[in-house]
Amino acid sequence: MSEGVERAAPPVSIPRTAADLARNLAFVKSRIASACEIAGRNLAEVTLLPVSKTVDEQRMRLAWQAGCTSFGENKVQEARGKVESLSDLDIRWSIIGHLQTNKAKYVARFADEFQALDRIKTAAILDRRLNIEGRSLDVFIQVNSSGEASKYGLEPEQVPDFARKLTAYPALNVRGLMTLAEFTADQARVRDCFRRMVRLRERMRQDGPQGMRFEELSMGMSGDYELAVIEGATIVRIGQAIFGPRELPDSHYWPSN
Ligand SMILES: *Cc1c(COP(=O)(O)O)cnc(C)c1O
Repeated sequence: MSEGVERAAPPVSIPRTAADLARNLAFVKSRIASACEIAGRNLAEVTLLPVSKTVDEQRMRLAWQAGCTSFGENKVQEARGKVESLSDLDIRWSIIGHLQTNKAKYVARFADEFQALDRIKTAAILDRRLNIEGRSLDVFIQVNSSGEASKYGLEPEQVPDFARKLTAYPALNVRGLMTLAEFTADQARVRDCFRRMVRLRERMRQDGPQGMRFEELSMGMSGDYELAVIEGATIVRIGQAIFGPRELPDSHYWPSN
């Protein structure tokens, strides 16, 4: 059913006013709604996570005024600064990028969610730090759904064993799976990535450790979120379609080929 689903063109300019931002947001939300309609899904099943990496405080305040209360950040250092400068707003912070273990203590302190868990060592350090802080953290297991050697994340077949090991870290509350699909204009291949994730989540729901519910599937970004929603995403992580183009190339955030 790939017919009729175009890739949403990312906005060409940086939104400067609350109205610009509200317009971008409304556009993204309407595309999510149409994707739900195409797939016969309930719109309430899909959460939009605005990704604010490289977005300055001013633009984030506009987004807040337009109704965004959660933000995804790829890098802990950048997130720390924003947590500080936006501390007057009640924001739910999600860290969505690869985490170096020496930064885990900050994530344990301020983040509400970590979407890129793919190493037990990181889980262990986060759990220890969370205990010190008296906090818990929602986490997602990151999966390499494209088979590209360059991508972060576990191979799908490693996930059941990894999930079992996570039961040793009760401060981590496993919410589901996260992935970046292959970066390609070939929609069939992008879909394959998303479908692999849907199957994996089914498997984890049936055979995963007791108490781990695997409710969420975080997949879909500015270039492929409609396909992700059609295939079953419950969270889409969207930056440029809301905040405008970034200057830094994507290779700054994840390894490239
Ligand atoms: C930047 C980023 C996104 C959003 O990408 P856009 O192209 O800006 O929508 C999603 N997920 C992760 C892990 C990211 O780092």
